[in-house]
Amino acid sequence: MRLRFVLGCQPGQRPLDLYLARDLGAGQTTTSDSTSCNKVTIPLQRGSVHIPRPHAAQSSSALRSRHLSAPENGAPNRCYRSNVTDEPATNAARLQARAERVLPGTAGRKRQMLHEFMADFPWFVERGEGATLTDVDGRQFLDLMGAYGPNLLGHRHPRVEQAAARQQLLGDTMGGLGPVTIELAEFLTERIDPIDWVFVGKNGSDATSYALRVARQATGRSRVLIAEAAYHTAQDWGTMFPNGVPEPHRMLTSRFVYNDPESLRAAVAEAGDDLAAIMLTPFHQGFYEQPDVATPAFVQAVEQEARRSGAVLVLDDVRANMRMHPSGASHDRIGIRPDIVCFGKAVANGRAVSVCGGSDALRDAADAIGYLGTFFGSAVAHAACLETFRTFDDEGAFDRMLDVGERLSKGLSDAASSADLTFDVSGYPTMAMVHIGRQPGPYLDHLWAAGMVRRGVLIHPTVAWYVCAALTDAQVDTVVERAADCFAEVAVEAADRERAKTAGG
Ligand code: PMP
Repeated sequence: MRLRFVLGCQPGQRPLDLYLARDLGAGQTTTSDSTSCNKVTIPLQRGSVHIPRPHAAQSSSALRSRHLSAPENGAPNRCYRSNVTDEPATNAARLQARAERVLPGTAGRKRQMLHEFMADFPWFVERGEGATLTDVDGRQFLDLMGAYGPNLLGHRHPRVEQAAARQQLLGDTMGGLGPVTIELAEFLTERIDPIDWVFVGKNGSDATSYALRVARQATGRSRVLIAEAAYHTAQDWGTMFPNGVPEPHRMLTSRFVYNDPESLRAAVAEAGDDLAAIMLTPFHQGFYEQPDVATPAFVQAVEQEARRSGAVLVLDDVRANMRMHPSGASHDRIGIRPDIVCFGKAVANGRAVSVCGGSDALRDAADAIGYLGTFFGSAVAHAACLETFRTFDDEGAFDRMLDVGERLSKGLSDAASSADLTFDVSGYPTMAMVHIGRQPGPYLDHLWAAGMVRRGVLIHPTVAWYVCAALTDAQVDTVVERAADCFAEVAVEAADRERAKTAGG
């Protein structure tokens, strides 16, 4: 078993100081692995509260008969159809059939991801409350995915909903900016150093695209550098999906290897004197990769290269922000001083708000560019954003999420060890992911995630969890209980595969 939380530290700082600048209470322990930056602090106490299990666990043979045609074989998702009539058997299946006719992306998603392993994944959700979701077939889930980030405080958090409702009574998109937008901008510039001005958009892509435009305007240069496999935008300049994107739209974006200073230096050299920006994520997870956090050596290299080349240093903090530091800004965790910071996902607890903020040095460039959006003045979302920050502070949400992440990691690791599985947790406690087995490859991870979903725990096999502050210790303990059951099944399957491999020579 290995816990691999990689933490950013500044030169000369001990990682644990950065990681947890708070007291270690009684009943906690600190573990570390071989490198000085890999440490995690884990509370040892366990609760015993039982939450009724929404789905009966299935036997190992049932699990395998349904799911052994492995994701590798790309088999179609027959579980979505009834065997007898070939008609959709569930509300989700009916919605999927309708979606395939009118939402090509949804149908595409099915082709890529809804193989048999994920047949039970709640793709169609009816409602959320706190840390739970109910899908369109009435199945309840403990939600560890947090909508891939936005669910920070809990679905429909009363304080945020009330703030949004108060603004709704006055109006939402009204053509002119409401006072709440100015209040939000002032709040962010006061709260987050080195932000002196902000642009407020809707999606993370708005913020990152705006950042690059400011960088290009400020430097008069064209090229930008981003990490391989990093997700920054749905726009042509950096999309992960090349279909439909003309080559010239991608030619100004080059890539370096995350956490590899040499690769970064080579990319900077190659860009020459046309480098407008280096964009970095504090928390990196490429598709089908284990998550990673920027190392101190890499952070230092990025800063040095940006300063030396005159490129604008953009921190894309759309994903991590309030899950990496109580300030809401991950650069306070990894120890970098960016020129521009982009936020998104969690900052309005589920409403569409993104922010790009920059230093005074870039104010004129930001002033000079035009960047319009019909809904950029969404007063309701901005009220929700302000209230999300205030609630985050008042409720100590960061510490809560850290506790939850640690409890979860420790509990899952213990459960996997008891099942005699080789197990790895990587990322940051609030956003981490498990990997089972000695080899890379997602087969056992898929098996586990599928088993957890059938047990009423929403987890994804290839994307980090995003815990929310509404998760209770009792709910985490329930997840761990169900995981123990699930790991036992996975261990049987892993042993069978080992035996088959040995027999096959
Ligand atoms: N940057 C990062 C680091 C992201 O994770 C994402 C979304 N996955 C984006 C930018 C783009 O955000 P959005 O999907 O809201 O446009």
